[in-house]
Amino acid sequence: MTPLYLDCNATTPVDPLVVDTMMPWFHDQFGNPHSVNHTFGTDAAAAVEEARRSIARLVGADAREIIFTSGATESNNLAIKGAARFERRMRGRRNRVVTVASEHKCVLESVKALAAEGFATDVLPVGTDGMVDTERLRRALGDDVILVSVMAANNEIGTLQPLAEIGAMTRACGALFHCDAAQAAGRIPLDVDAANIDLMSLSGHKVYGPKGIGVLYVRRRPRARIEPLFSGGGQERTLRSGTVPAPLAIGFGKAADLAAAHDQEKEAGRLNTFAHALVEGLPGISLNGPPIGKRLPGNLNLAIEGVDAGDLISRVPELAFSTGSACTSAVVEPSYVLRAIGLTPEQAASSVRLGIGRFTTSDDIDFAIDRLAQAINRCRREA
Ligand SMILES: *Cc1c(COP(=O)(O)O)cnc(C)c1O
Repeated sequence: MTPLYLDCNATTPVDPLVVDTMMPWFHDQFGNPHSVNHTFGTDAAAAVEEARRSIARLVGADAREIIFTSGATESNNLAIKGAARFERRMRGRRNRVVTVASEHKCVLESVKALAAEGFATDVLPVGTDGMVDTERLRRALGDDVILVSVMAANNEIGTLQPLAEIGAMTRACGALFHCDAAQAAGRIPLDVDAANIDLMSLSGHKVYGPKGIGVLYVRRRPRARIEPLFSGGGQERTLRSGTVPAPLAIGFGKAADLAAAHDQEKEAGRLNTFAHALVEGLPGISLNGPPIGKRLPGNLNLAIEGVDAGDLISRVPELAFSTGSACTSAVVEPSYVLRAIGLTPEQAASSVRLGIGRFTTSDDIDFAIDRLAQAINRCRREA
């Protein structure tokens, strides 16, 4: 029996309509979208440009501001390292990068890599709900700051950061605002202009699209200047050399169209109802991160008193969920995000993440509550 999938913050299933849209671009229409001498190439190029427009529309951007990458990890690296290195090479007046402790590993590691290159870096703490303290951020800003990187929605605890406020203060100090919106895209409204976002990372596989494709939004007015990571043929406005994987880009475009066509508010309401049912149906648990309704729809992170998360997960093979972020689950350390919001190592070790989404049904939720409640009780009895 296939387990019930409850890990939508790690990845989402590819929507069948996305699969259908992608298929022809693997076999009949397999052209290189950068080949301009025949219709194999030009047809693929036209479809990639349509996908670019679809993704741009989802976040209020212009298609010319969308750069295809291999995913949000690459986009985050490109934005953060690219902005800092461009500033050093071309201007050199500013030397500091600011982020927060609950960011995705690829953001924190990019910032760490810049520290090793001699840039000054600030990693600001977050509150018990995972929110950045905007007063503290304001004090950290100055005319030496190149870039501020704050995510839209946290992948472990669903915290939604106040992007408009952060964007306004970042713009006022003359720094660039980078936002990792991999979790937020398609789930909550995003508008690059409303939040003064200069650089924004998205990932295909978090919005029911394929893995291995992402984009970086790069603002044109006022222009966000970044240096590429890769040397090569100069594709993607010289910012990302390499052949754009047309089937994946086209699939991501379709996924963006589907997300835009969805009634986001209604879907959020449906997921919030499910989340309430889970929280109320499980014995002796507490919610890590913001309350339902104020967090990313579909994300739950639960501290389960007296239970080891790994023990619980192994007792319910019929459910697929996780201890935290997929990216660090090889390491047996408690989640640094849960530690950053003040959980003890013990509390973090008894916390699990549940991610529900587009294909989760009310029967699924009943099944999950039943199996989880039994397993929690067994864990406690046998601990
Ligand atoms: C999944 C995720 C990433 C990494 O995206 P990939 O496309 O898998 O590289 C980065 N940031 C956040 C917030 C994520 O959820």
